Order: sequence, then structure tokens, then C-alpha cells
Amino acid sequence: MIDKQHIINRFVSYITIDTESDPKSDTTPSTKKQWDLANKLAEELKAIGMQDVTIDENAYIMATLPSNVDHEVPTIGFISHFDTSPDFTGANVKPQIVENYNGKDIVLNAEEDIVLSPDYFEDLLLYKGQTLITTDGTTLLGADDKAGITEIVSAMEYLINHPEIQHGPIRVGFTPDEEIGRGAHKFDVEKFGADWAYTMDGSQIGELEYENFNAAGAVVKVKGKIVHPGYAKGKMVNSMYIATEFINSLPRLETPEHTEGYEGFFHLYSIQGEVEETILEYIIRDHDKQHFEARKEVMVKLTNDINEQYEREVITIDIKDQYFNMKEKVEPVMHIVDIAEEAMKQLGIKPLIKAIRGGTDGSQLSYMGLPCPNIFAGGHNFHGRYEYVPVESMIKATEVICKIAELTALKAKS
Ligand SMILES: [Zn+2]
Repeated sequence: MIDKQHIINRFVSYITIDTESDPKSDTTPSTKKQWDLANKLAEELKAIGMQDVTIDENAYIMATLPSNVDHEVPTIGFISHFDTSPDFTGANVKPQIVENYNGKDIVLNAEEDIVLSPDYFEDLLLYKGQTLITTDGTTLLGADDKAGITEIVSAMEYLINHPEIQHGPIRVGFTPDEEIGRGAHKFDVEKFGADWAYTMDGSQIGELEYENFNAAGAVVKVKGKIVHPGYAKGKMVNSMYIATEFINSLPRLETPEHTEGYEGFFHLYSIQGEVEETILEYIIRDHDKQHFEARKEVMVKLTNDINEQYEREVITIDIKDQYFNMKEKVEPVMHIVDIAEEAMKQLGIKPLIKAIRGGTDGSQLSYMGLPCPNIFAGGHNFHGRYEYVPVESMIKATEVICKIAELTALKAKS
């Protein structure tokens, strides 16, 4: 089927090009170096025989694999991002290939004593006997999401070389700047023209996700009054104490460190305080839309209550929605998840359907009119030196893409 060495070579050719994105930049792509891989990808798509290959002024790449059947089939899309996280350097990636992994510690870097160990990363044991690609301990790997790109390009190449596999029209989209939350921002959904799509941007083999958080950010400003501390009686108002009241009035167990699964939270991630002014920054997360709205209301009510207690406006709150649970947009077209699940089952992969405790580009795209669940790309320990990917998982993801294309054409026939 899919040639292993070919997949390894393609993946290595992508990860050895530095494409780290930069949240402080306001250009698109956020870093010039992302063009290095973007241009290469556009050329490669043409070389394997894709049609209508375009790369726009923001480095968004799109391409088409035309239908090879006579009947009408919905257009499906596959999407990945080519930037890597600014959390850890992606320059000079020196991949190491561990064949026939024996289930023991992998020394990433003997000099600096950096070890990838199943004692700490138990997932490794899922891949005994497989071929792992790791870092040399000094950079991230970039499997997030160059594994996804490898899989999509390889699947398209495979379908082109195997015209006996029937499929409808397929669109491919590669984006910059996903890691800084802007991958979907300038994605032209209309130009993409797919009925639905999948991001190939999950982790462990089998992952299939169509639920994510509803998300908002809140900035709470507390106003105090500074007076000489020696003569402050009845005059000084210390904003930090009022801010503490606010913090302590929110449920202490509804925080990231006390929640999992479908439990939502308030997360206080920054305090800047002086007597005159204290600023609290929160994120609010909940899968359930009603609970999400209720969380925002709780914060507003608390603000009002404290203002009432002080008989003037000591606190203001500014809440901004960030993204929403794609479930709302995917559930009405649930067959798009069913097809992916069916594809995995037919390939002997156990689907792991779970709710994302975060957001994806797919959630934004779903609200832009392109329902877009997320499928595993195979990598683990993203955004750091312990990142690795089993080659067998990349091969399986490639097969999943081909199988989804095949099932979509098949279902459109009946
Ligand atoms: Zn990613």
C-alpha cells in the first residue's frame, strides 16, 4: 500500500524547513520563513498532478483533485497547517528514526541527557515494534502539523496513482499561522468550495473530534484610590483587596487544574495589581452553550454585586467571545463524522471520539460555513522537545483520507 520510506522522506523534507509562527507579528503569514515551505508545497502539489493549485498573498494554499466518477458526489476537503508553535524552536530540526521501537527509553540527546521515556510518556508503549520519528532533544519535531500535510499530500498522490479507487471532487487546503490562532482567519471558505472538510490535526491514532469548547475572554478592571498610607484612614481604596474578593467569589474548583472531560472552568491567567488599579484576565471555557452563557452571567453579576456593595463603580468587566463549540454546526450534518468513523473501522482503527478541551481551526471554519471535524495526524507531545510521531500512524491517517474519499463517493451513489 502506502510506501513507508516515501512517507518518511516527505515528512522529513517538511520538518527540516523552519516555519515557526510569531504571535507578535501582524502580517500574514506572521513570519516570512513560512513562505519557504508554502512555495515548496504548492510546487509539490502541481508535481504530483493536483489541479487548480493556488497560493494567495497570505500563503494559503488550495488545490483540487477532480472527481473520477460520473455521478454527483459532494466536494470534501482536507486541511492542515504548515506553521509550528512559537512555544519551542523549530529551527534546525534533526529528526532521529527509531526503527522497531523496543518499548524502552529513547535517548534523544546523550550530551544533554535528554531522554524520551515511557515511564513518563506512557503512550509510547502503544507503538512497540513500530518506527518512531523523534527530535534530537533540542527542537520540536513539527509533526503538528506537518504530519497532517504529509498525509494529505500522500493520500492525493495515492489516489492519483490508483484511479481504480473511485472518489468525488476533493479540495486540499494548507494554512499558515494556526498555532497563533489565525489559521482560519483568512481562509476563503467560498473559494475552497467544499461541502465539508476535515482538519488532519489531531494526535493519537483513532482520534476523531467534533466537539470543542465555547470560549470567551474577560478583562476585569478594579479601580482603587491611592493616599499616603500614614493618613489613609477612611480614604484609601486598595484595588488589590477588591480584586481578591472577586477572585475568591468564583468557584475555586471550577478551574483548569480541577476539571476534565466535559467540565468547564474559569481560568485566571494574569493579575497586575497596584493600589490604584488591578487588572485580572480570565478565560472562560465550557462545552455546553447554556453553561457557557451562565458562566459569563455569573461574572457580570459578581461585578454588579461588588459595585453595589461599594456604592459606586469600582469594577468593570469586558467579556469577549473567542470561539464556539463546532458541535452545533456539525450535529446537523452528522454523516460527515459517521463517514470518518466508518473509514477508520474499515481500516481496523479503533475510533476515539472525544471532546477537545480547546479549540481548533475547524471550529472557526465550521462557523464560517465549512463544517470541519478533526482527525488524528498521529503525533504526540506537541510543541516541545519530546514530540514524536509513529510512521505507522501517518500511514494509517493517509489511508483514512483515501477511505473517506471512497466512502463519500460510494454513499452518493446509493
Ligand atoms: Zn496543529
